[in-house]
Amino acid sequence: MTGRCRQRIWVHGVVQGVGFRPFVYTTAAAAGLSGSVRNDSSGAIIEVEGERDHIDGFLDRLRDDPPPLAVIEAVEARDIPIVGGTGFRIVDTSRSDGGRTLVSPDVAMCADCESEQRNPANRRYRHAFVNCTNCGPRFTIIAGVPYDRAATTMADFPMCADCADEYADPTDRRFHAQPVCCPHCGPTLTYLEGSGHRIGAEHGLRRARQLLRDGGILAVKGIGGYHLACDAANDGAVSELRRRKRRGDKPFAVMVADLPAARALCGLDESSERLLSGPQRPIVLLARSPSAPVADSVAPHNPDLGVMLAYTPLHTLLFGLPDDEPGPAALVMTSGNLGGEPICYRDDDAVERLSHLADGWLMHDRPILVPCDDSVVRLVSGSELPIRRSRGYAPLPVALPMSVPPTLAVGADLKNTMAVAEGRYAWLSQHIGDMDDLATLSAFDSAATHLGALTGVHPEVFVADAHPRYRSTSWAHRNAGGRPVRPVQHHHAHIAAVMAEHGLDGSEQVLGFAFDGTGYGPDGAIWGGEVLLADYKGFRRMAQLKYVSLPGGDISVLRPYRMAMSHLWAAGVSWADDLPPVNACPADERAVLLHQLETGLGCVRTSSMGRLFDAVSALAGVRQVVDYEAQAAIELEGLSRSADSGVLRYRFDVDLTVDGPAQVDPAALLRAVVDDVRNGVPAGVIGARFHAAVVRLIVELAAEFATGTNTVALSGGVFQNALLAGITLTTLRDNGFEVITHRRVPPNDGGIALGQLMVGNSG
Ligand SMILES: [Zn+2]
Ligand SMILES: [Zn+2]
Repeated sequence: MTGRCRQRIWVHGVVQGVGFRPFVYTTAAAAGLSGSVRNDSSGAIIEVEGERDHIDGFLDRLRDDPPPLAVIEAVEARDIPIVGGTGFRIVDTSRSDGGRTLVSPDVAMCADCESEQRNPANRRYRHAFVNCTNCGPRFTIIAGVPYDRAATTMADFPMCADCADEYADPTDRRFHAQPVCCPHCGPTLTYLEGSGHRIGAEHGLRRARQLLRDGGILAVKGIGGYHLACDAANDGAVSELRRRKRRGDKPFAVMVADLPAARALCGLDESSERLLSGPQRPIVLLARSPSAPVADSVAPHNPDLGVMLAYTPLHTLLFGLPDDEPGPAALVMTSGNLGGEPICYRDDDAVERLSHLADGWLMHDRPILVPCDDSVVRLVSGSELPIRRSRGYAPLPVALPMSVPPTLAVGADLKNTMAVAEGRYAWLSQHIGDMDDLATLSAFDSAATHLGALTGVHPEVFVADAHPRYRSTSWAHRNAGGRPVRPVQHHHAHIAAVMAEHGLDGSEQVLGFAFDGTGYGPDGAIWGGEVLLADYKGFRRMAQLKYVSLPGGDISVLRPYRMAMSHLWAAGVSWADDLPPVNACPADERAVLLHQLETGLGCVRTSSMGRLFDAVSALAGVRQVVDYEAQAAIELEGLSRSADSGVLRYRFDVDLTVDGPAQVDPAALLRAVVDDVRNGVPAGVIGARFHAAVVRLIVELAAEFATGTNTVALSGGVFQNALLAGITLTTLRDNGFEVITHRRVPPNDGGIALGQLMVGNSG
């Protein structure tokens, strides 16, 4: 059909702050259409008038070829009466009309802005805050929607005439880029010395780089908070940073200027290069090259290195442009805080709280509204596996397989992330942290408020972990104000999360393997080695790791030798001194431990797979005491990667004859480990054999219990282990199973809120 007509088009999705309106303008102009485009709080509304086939072509481009950062969720078009007129207008944002906008995440500096920063002829040469519609801060500077400059922390920086021209010119890359600025009108960079002396931009930058070269520790204001930086090749500097942060062995991430610098640290392939240089710029966990010029103290005992590329214009200046005296090639970049505290993001707070940690501060006066840590990802069989979903990803929505009422899910207590949802969208917050102090609880409060303001969701339902003593659960009860708080079992939520991100509507069950460290079971035990036949409504526990004692609770989490001894005791293996964990246990502690195991005093029962990894790591002599979560398992995985397991020597016994869940007993496996230890088999080989046994267990249990379903779901923190996840995936697929794993949210507790949303609304 041809002829002139007019259409009103509603575009839903992430279309604000991503250059969508200029794109519409130029596309409409190219098609000879008149009309207008405006943002509203549910996305964008376009009116176009012209020949119908031109309008059809325009709609095709809208759907198929939007700007790179836009996410088009839906396009609806309807004919309306012709009004005539010429030209195409971009209408300023009007008031909110109760719909919903999707705010963009923070985006790393784009290539166009980077080349401007390096071009002496450009007016933004060496500008520390260069950005455009395709890049720059968003989530961390936006207080509410609609997305306009007045609603951002750039409200206090009036644009100069040149910037205002670019902002108003629909053909310019900066058209309606809310944080647009230049050296004349933008934020100011300052270097603050430890003495309190302030030094201006260029001179300050040189001093900051000098401090890093000299082995000092620099606080750098980033997108979502302050980092502490030092020269990654300088062992003295890195060790000093560890000492000041009271950091123990937990690995530091490293930032480099570009891909060639990253190649000097780690072996890269196409997938890892794409991840590293993508607009999210996460920390990517990569195998460290033996020759990497990085001090051992950056990631002690760890075969991997967390690497990210510079992602703000300030970072690239810190590394130095071609004419600068260069700074260190690789910088440790760790969040500016004391171990466990939330990241500092306010300037006064950063100066005060980091005063004993930093020797100088590179800061500026564009406020950060909400803190947002760096994201962490790794690659499993070439696919992205999120470990921490935060900067660059939050608050991109996750589409839900079914519609839900306005809901808030508070997540779990470790690696907390919350989520709100309404209709077919869920928005996960940035990473908040471990809910074990007041500061984190208050960060939780402000993240909830911010997420509410950006999404406009007013929750009618709260969902929380079934653990009665989780702080997140108590928060939900304290803040519910009469609204229902629905409890969801921890491992059920894990499996529901992976189902949701794969778009399963819950009409069919999956066989879920939920392997992690800790989760509250309805029988009061600590679960963590669970095989659940599940949909959103409920689950049946088909199999579990046989309970053993967790003597003294958290003490045994921090001291894997105790977990090994508990497992040995359960397996009937005597505590001989030649076994590394027994040797690591002081004699008096040994006596108390034995008493606890015999009487059950101070013991809880656990089926945790994470603790079994700890026990095997300790038995193999890898790690007896940890100072960060999963350290023993991570080091065991590292040693196992390059080792050959040989024939399948270890196996779990599975008892199918009992009432209730099948019992998976590791006793015989542990006796085989003990034999190997006594025969001098290297730890890596023991580890490889153990990983192979866990994979075989999963495949056997899948064959036994995946009746009526062919879909196997893998979730829980244990599946952050790339070796285990990779082999499990391949082996299950080779055996004909459909396997779903995490791609968008982490398998650890950082992804649990998504599952809570689904289960909590499926009663
Ligand atoms: Zn840009
Ligand atoms: Zn300007």
